Amino acid sequence: MVSSTSQTFCRICHAACPVEVEIEENKVISVRGVKEDPLFKGYTCIKGRQIPDQINSQERLRFHLKKTKDGHFEEVSRANGLDEVAKKLEEIIKQYGSGAVASYTGTGGYQSSCALATAEAWHKGIGSHQLYTSVTIDQPAKTTAPMRTGAWGAGIHNFRDSDIFLAVGNNPMVSSYSPLGGLQGTDPFTKMREAKKKGMKLIVIDPRETELASSADIHLQPIPGEDPTLLAGLLNVIFEKSIYDHNFCDEWVEPSTLNSLIKSISRFTPEYVSKRCDVDQGAIIEAALMFANGEKGGAGTGTGPSMAPHSSLTEHLIICLNVICGRYNREGDLVESGNFLYPDSPRLAQVIPAKDPTPGPPSRFRNLRGYRGQMPCSTLADEILEPGEGQIRALIVSGGNPVVAFPDQELTMSALKDLDLLVVLDHRMTATAELADYIFAPRLALERADVPHLMDRWFAAPYTNYTDAVVEAESELIAEWEFFWEIACRMNTPIALSGGELPLDHKPTDDEVIDLVYSEARMPMDQIRENRGIIHAGKEYVVQPADPGCTSKFNLMPDGIQVEIDQVFAEVTGAELWPGFNPAIHTFRLISRRLKDVLNSLGTELPKIAARSTTNYAYMSPDDMKDLKISDDDLIDISSPRSTITGVAKADKTLRRGIVSMAHSWGGTSLTDEKVRDIGTPTSRLTSAREAIDPINGMVVSSAIPVQVQLTKEFSTN
Ligand code: SF4
Repeated sequence: MVSSTSQTFCRICHAACPVEVEIEENKVISVRGVKEDPLFKGYTCIKGRQIPDQINSQERLRFHLKKTKDGHFEEVSRANGLDEVAKKLEEIIKQYGSGAVASYTGTGGYQSSCALATAEAWHKGIGSHQLYTSVTIDQPAKTTAPMRTGAWGAGIHNFRDSDIFLAVGNNPMVSSYSPLGGLQGTDPFTKMREAKKKGMKLIVIDPRETELASSADIHLQPIPGEDPTLLAGLLNVIFEKSIYDHNFCDEWVEPSTLNSLIKSISRFTPEYVSKRCDVDQGAIIEAALMFANGEKGGAGTGTGPSMAPHSSLTEHLIICLNVICGRYNREGDLVESGNFLYPDSPRLAQVIPAKDPTPGPPSRFRNLRGYRGQMPCSTLADEILEPGEGQIRALIVSGGNPVVAFPDQELTMSALKDLDLLVVLDHRMTATAELADYIFAPRLALERADVPHLMDRWFAAPYTNYTDAVVEAESELIAEWEFFWEIACRMNTPIALSGGELPLDHKPTDDEVIDLVYSEARMPMDQIRENRGIIHAGKEYVVQPADPGCTSKFNLMPDGIQVEIDQVFAEVTGAELWPGFNPAIHTFRLISRRLKDVLNSLGTELPKIAARSTTNYAYMSPDDMKDLKISDDDLIDISSPRSTITGVAKADKTLRRGIVSMAHSWGGTSLTDEKVRDIGTPTSRLTSAREAIDPINGMVVSSAIPVQVQLTKEFSTN
């Protein structure tokens, strides 16, 4: 048998690790990291090493399905399925208007480098603003917070130059993610070792002793949900001791807002913060001094704090820490990431002024508005269920699983069942696909050309990569961009990308679409194609001086922040945001957690991953388990003010007491978890899409959820 090897990169998550794939007669046989790659040096994770199982899986959907009147699925040809979907969409638009058609691009869809851009352009073409993505499920404050304060034109200090780094609820060793200036998922273990060897100090704030925290110089383990209090406490120490960057603040911060911030957080004394967060007072002071006394290096959050109560305030206080300590690249500095796929724009050492964080169309619910061209996911269920102008009747889900990922599982399922048309693009029969009217089977990563469009702006070096399809897909399969193009052809609506409209008279190739999506790339696509896995020495952005007339400054107290700081100070705990919270009952906090072997709902369908675990264990401190007479593998009921899930208990000595730590986006369509040992349970069932939401961006509190924990009755020996 003739075999060949091809170089490509993994697209199971956004990290884009280069891999070498062995192929025999168009079948992927094995995959390994590329040792010669100058940035990743051969790094891959366990998920990426499952690519052969994923692409060859017997369980993979290789044909398209349509739900029959009796609720079963039957195979439908690609052409007929697309014809029927286009016809139904036209009928819906005729009856309700174009705003009745929505789409959701999930984590899976995001990995396809043309999927979201094509979906956005398709929406514009039909005149619907109802576009949703996974960005508004977990970390919207990372978008809205800098818009409220203003941003720095040359970015935060590079991780490679840092002598200090503060990570709040961020565990890049597992998530392969850090905000800009943080430790990226490009060989993170080695990069951290090297940074520590050079003397970098690491402060980690996390209720769990994570893989990152095990390298920390200071690890603070607060009660979950108290991040704003702890961060306000760190700021207060820095102000009290006057060890912030006065020169930077004098030049770039609106003085009245700095003074208001200092005054407002002076209440968060080390004594108060220590008591409320249950963290040693001396350690709080030590962490504040260590951060402020560092020369270079920033602070950043991961998913946990972005899903916890007061997520906008948490992100705001992180920005304040970076601003008052002047942790931004200055004139003459190099910006580590090349940003080659996006338009060339000078990096200026000045403030980009604050602007309206939510300038998009209004939602019909909770006074929320769209931002970054999207609408907030927390309103989607109500937009479907509530009759009247603007009601959504059709939803296209591209590589996502809202049944287990969206907040408020019960409400989400009611909404999905209420639709006139639900179309899902997925290679697996997910919980959401089970509810669909049509399921289209997509081409998988190795079957399409791509660029690392998410990492491009985060790579810790001016690095480019590109891949063509390394195996040929079966002809019926359809890429995400291709689905929208096919529907556009049938509805005769345009798909206008930055480089021009997609032709509707003939089918473009992946590469033609990439060229149109990335037409304004700093490095032309032809050059990127010739520079696969290359670091371009000397191509870093050199930070330019500020415009002489620049007068913009950071606003450290934008509208609403004072109110929220007051609210936090008035609370005993962040859990008070929840109506129905009872401190005598909800004595635990459920926190979200990433796992090495799965990415949200993706992974458990793969045999080697399933052999490790088929459930998202409810991890608890062994001491708590002992007190509650819970043993490993016992079933436990976990109840929030909103609902109950059943989890499988597992002891984890890295956790502080009072916590249940679970991965999200597991489980199925059942609301009673009969199969929890086989498929897990969705923590989203515990959340409410209508209460305890962030007033700016609609983020639902999905971590640090107040819960009661009890041994499931049938297993209780009491
Ligand atoms: S970190 Fe992400 S991109 Fe890299 S091998 Fe793992 S899943 Fe693939």
